[in-house]
Order: sequence, then structure tokens, then C-alpha cells
Amino acid sequence: MFQVRKRVLVTGGAGFIGSHLCWRLLKAGHHVICVDNFYSGARDNIVDLMADPYFELVRHDVTFPLYIEVDAIFNLASPASPIHYQRDPVMTTKANVHGAINMLGLAKRLNIPILQASTSEVYGDPTVHPQTEDYRGWVNPIGPRACYDEGKRCAETLFFDYYRQYGLQIKVARIFNTYGPRMLANDGRVISNFITQALQDHPITIYGDGSQTRSFCYVDDLVDGLLQLMESPKDVTGPVNLGRPGEYTVLDLAQQIIALTGSRSKVRHEALPEDDPKRREPDISLAKQVLGWEPKVELAQGLEATIAYFRTLANGARPSPTGS
Ligand code: NAD
Ligand code: UDP
Repeated sequence: MFQVRKRVLVTGGAGFIGSHLCWRLLKAGHHVICVDNFYSGARDNIVDLMADPYFELVRHDVTFPLYIEVDAIFNLASPASPIHYQRDPVMTTKANVHGAINMLGLAKRLNIPILQASTSEVYGDPTVHPQTEDYRGWVNPIGPRACYDEGKRCAETLFFDYYRQYGLQIKVARIFNTYGPRMLANDGRVISNFITQALQDHPITIYGDGSQTRSFCYVDDLVDGLLQLMESPKDVTGPVNLGRPGEYTVLDLAQQIIALTGSRSKVRHEALPEDDPKRREPDISLAKQVLGWEPKVELAQGLEATIAYFRTLANGARPSPTGS
């Protein structure tokens, strides 16, 4: 489907992952329509793309219907970091559920493929390790993370109901922790927090004892996975895990960032947020098998690039469009 110039809608296109995706799609010769309400996105992420006549920015909230003619949809619109999605939890559920209904309705009217940016949070605080796609999760439906976890789970339900009921071409990616240039410095995620703190020699805030684990995927690898999933045969619907296997404790990560930045920061322990998952690591056998995809960028290499980006920001310069 991606042989000739296509009109590709990216919702959440001014966000961290979305802006990298817009850039890659433009580079591949497509016409990109970026839809964003700037809730957690940044104009700086896309400002360099705006000179390109094949890049269009539409300020719009996906909880409202959108009438537009396009050939494919990447649905990424949703706040993604815990502090952002918990700031207005009702809005988070609406962005994921109403947003999915509106984008699926658009895809159905146009009979076009649609990809959903789902998340490892659908597994909640997992009791199976590493997480495979057939694991159904361990989610607290009434906790502070539920607006996001259950919003994303309901979006997956809608995607599969549109697939079964209307034969829509769907693709569901379960994205694990992703990092890289253009994360917001103040979005509260672990890598952006630790790098920002380390560069200022401020205390590194470890929530709990730091023994909880995550697996980190560099954004370029993740975007490769999203593009490959969209290009995959019709019968590949997912859900498919996209992430980088390799588990690190939060304490390991802090020490690695202190070493890479040459920081004088010390760690400071703070309260562990409610329902914070204890372990998370993707099993990516399915992605390897159906997409031939696996991440290439090692954690240290990806952290170097991300640190370089945050240093540029700290110096007051605006980073390059690719961020790398
Ligand atoms: P982000 O917050 O940087 O990007 C999300 C974008 O969506 C922002 O630009 C925001 O303004 C926009 N948005 C939010 N609500 C909207 C609405 N109602 N209408 C229109 N635009 C809206 O987050 P990100 O890390 O780039 O995540 C992108 C997608 O990937 C999200 O759907 C997220 O759930 C998913 N995801 C990300 C990660 C990760 O580690 N970054 C992990 C799992 C899943
Ligand atoms: N975390 C931390 N200090 C911080 C930010 C996060 O110890 O300053 C921890 C957090 O409690 C979680 C892990 O790092 O265990 C990843 O947090 P993040 O918000 O990046 O993502 P998520 O919890 O959604 O995986």
C-alpha cells in the first residue's frame, strides 16, 4: 500500500512518537496530515516539518468527529505519560474511547487501514513474564492508571469489533516503554526525568526502592515497527508487542544515566505511585515472526542520543527535525 504517495493521517502527530512518525512518512514521500490538540504535544516537535508542502497540521480533538479524505490512519492521539494521563482522567478515557470510535468511523467510511497505538499497560501489573500477546493482563479497573489502561483496552475491543463486524483492516500495536529525542523534559517519564535531573546535578528521583523493571525501546526502532505493521498483509491484525526485550531495574537505569552524563547527582527515594507495575518486558516472538522486526539500538546508544538532545535543549537551541 505504501508504494506511491499516500495521504496518511497521524493523530497525535505533534507528540513524541507521532512527530518521528510524521517525519519518516514525509521522508518516504507521503502526504502527511497531522491531527493534534496539543494536550501533551509540542509545536516545536513539528515546526520544521511545516515548510514541507506535503505536511498539513490540523488542530483538532479526536473526541470529536473528523471529516477528511485520507488513505491510511495511524491513531496515536492520547496522553501517554502517567502525570499527563492522570491530570484529566476523564479526558484520557474519552481520548482513547471516543477517539477510537471517531477514527474507526472515519476508516470505515473510507474503507482504509487503521493502526492503533495500544500499550503494554493493557497487561497492567503483569503476573506473566515476559508478556506475550495472549496474556490477558492484571489491571485494576478503579485505580489511578485505569483511565489509560482501560481506555486503551476498550479501544482494542472497538478495533476488533470493527474488524469482525465490518471487515475493517485493523492493526493493533502494543507499544512498550519508548524513549528518545523529543520526549518532553517535564512529562514525568523515567528517562526524561533522570536525564533532566542528571544534567543539572539534581537528585535522581527513584520511586520506591527502584527494584521495579522496565524494558526500553529507542524511538527509531519503534517507528520502524509501526511502519512495518501498517505495511503487513491484511490478515496481520495484531495485537503485536513492539518493544525491546532486556529488563532493567529503575535503579540500574539511574546509575547508567549518571555514568553517561558524568553527573554528580545522588539518588533520592520517593513514594512508589499506586499500581506501579513491578516488572515489564515484551516477548516479541510474534513481531519477529510476522513482521521480521526487532529493535537494533542498544540502550546505551539510545541513551547517548537522548542525552545529546536534552543537552541541546538545555543550551537553548532548537534541535534538528530528526532530533538526532
Ligand atoms: P505524547 O503525549 O508525546 O503524544 C500524544 C499526542 O496526542 C500529543 O501530541 C497530544 O497532544 C495528542 N493528543 C492527546 N489527546 C488528544 C486528543 N484528544 N485529540 C488530539 N490529539 C490528542 O505521547 P507518545 O509517547 O508520543 O505516545 C503516542 C502514542 O503511543 C499514545 O497513544 C500512547 O498511548 C502510545 N504509547 C506510547 C508509549 C511510550 O513509551 N511513549 C508506550 C505505549 C504506548
Ligand atoms: N520512575 C521513577 N522515578 C521517576 C519517574 C519514574 O522511579 O522520576 C519509575 C516509575 O515509578 C516506574 C518506572 O520508573 O516504575 C517507569 O515510569 P514511567 O512513568 O516512565 O512509565 P510507566 O510507569 O508508564 O512504565
